[in-house]
Amino acid sequence: MTAEPVRIALLLPDLLGTYGDRGNVLVLAQRLSWRGIASETITVLSSSAAVPDSCDLYLLGGGEDVAQVAAVRFLRRNQGLQRAVGRGAPVLGICGGLQVLGTSFETGDGQRHSGLGLVDAVTEPGPDRAIGEVTTHSALGGVGALTGFENHLGRTRLGGHAEPLGRVVRGTGNGYDQVEGAVCGHVVTTYLHGPVLARNPKLADLLLEWAIGEPLEPLADPPELTALRAERTRSYARTRK
Ligand code: GLN
Repeated sequence: MTAEPVRIALLLPDLLGTYGDRGNVLVLAQRLSWRGIASETITVLSSSAAVPDSCDLYLLGGGEDVAQVAAVRFLRRNQGLQRAVGRGAPVLGICGGLQVLGTSFETGDGQRHSGLGLVDAVTEPGPDRAIGEVTTHSALGGVGALTGFENHLGRTRLGGHAEPLGRVVRGTGNGYDQVEGAVCGHVVTTYLHGPVLARNPKLADLLLEWAIGEPLEPLADPPELTALRAERTRSYARTRK
């Protein structure tokens, strides 16, 4: 097992921190700790000098259009994230983070902005905000069912170099082709808040396995999560009647 603490970079929570996605860091650290593995969280703020390129895993949360534009500007200038992706470090981008990591996104005021181009995905505003519970099925590394909460105006079309994270069972997702999220190599993006890793521990463990480069021993789901998933399934069944 790895002796050095696993270094998790939380990118720009002061810009892309509107939807509580920083909880994903707590989940990753806790799941490592339950297995006796130490971790260190490196928080990169918009006032920080640079993005370290040596971290094991990177997280980018959701936020408003204006904040997304500032995030792209900052991450372009630093290039640390791009270098880390170049050596295969895993990245999780949520909602606004998905759009920032993509090829381009159009904000609500009709302006088109270049993204970082780390994911082959183009975002344009939809006819309305997509808000509510989402359920998908993912073919990625044994992840299976994913659940979360979406709240976004943007609709995202994937290019040929991106795979969807999941097929939409319920909810809007990307808004095209009944798919949700985008995966390019070890860059995983999704519209799911929750935080998504609290609700989907298998996805958390897949990212951690990529980060440390070895398989992790399985953990039993906490009873709260089992109860939440059962409740969501029941309420979904009720809405389908
Ligand atoms: N501003 C983006 C949109 O509305 C992303 C929102 C979010 O991160 N939840 O599409």
